[in-house]
Amino acid sequence: MVRDRRTDCLLCLESTAQTGLCQNCERLLARTGFVCPGCAIPLAARGWCGNCLRGPPAFDGVVAAFDYRFPLDRLVQRFKFSADLAVGATLGDALARAVAHGPRPDLVVASPISAARLRERGFNPALLLARRVASRHGIALDGDCLAKMRHTPPQTGLDAAARLANVRGAFAVTRRVAELHVAIVDDVMTTGATLEEMARALKDRGAARVSGWVAARTPEPGRRS
Ligand SMILES: [Zn+2]
Ligand SMILES: [Zn+2]
Repeated sequence: MVRDRRTDCLLCLESTAQTGLCQNCERLLARTGFVCPGCAIPLAARGWCGNCLRGPPAFDGVVAAFDYRFPLDRLVQRFKFSADLAVGATLGDALARAVAHGPRPDLVVASPISAARLRERGFNPALLLARRVASRHGIALDGDCLAKMRHTPPQTGLDAAARLANVRGAFAVTRRVAELHVAIVDDVMTTGATLEEMARALKDRGAARVSGWVAARTPEPGRRS
């Protein structure tokens, strides 16, 4: 029976024929306006944001499935801090749809977390998303491509410059990436400091192009450096 295939929407608990989010919630959460092609920050008009114009980032473009704001932020937190894997799958699928029309990378990698953070959380949310997106598009995945060399204090509460200093030199590239287009998957992008540092590490090793693929992007403008 058709009714058996209905599930509850992860956000509003309305019964839905879709898995994850119902159509209403999906429409409500969709990013509809202009976004900067460099860093995916929402903008009032078409074009690049002030940050990207002032200093081009090390990454070559960002795609974000959602804005990181209520109620989507609660969903992301449920995934990250309560290991709600159904939410992770829904976010991963949304990200896979969001990147479907962009240039196809040679390799998908995940934003790494430190060993200490991994022990505390039990899993790396970014890797789970990366696995989902890579398999949806049949792109090679290397979950260990980027390694976190040291535990960095949480970025929360730091301004953009402090965030950049906090993650400087924190990442190592563990495989050959020369000439490759690499897409880095992460759960949330705030100022982009972490993405900037990972992209820089990949470019230092000869990556031709680095894309940022994030489930959610904070809509407030934040200075990158
Ligand atoms: Zn809903
Ligand atoms: Zn920008």
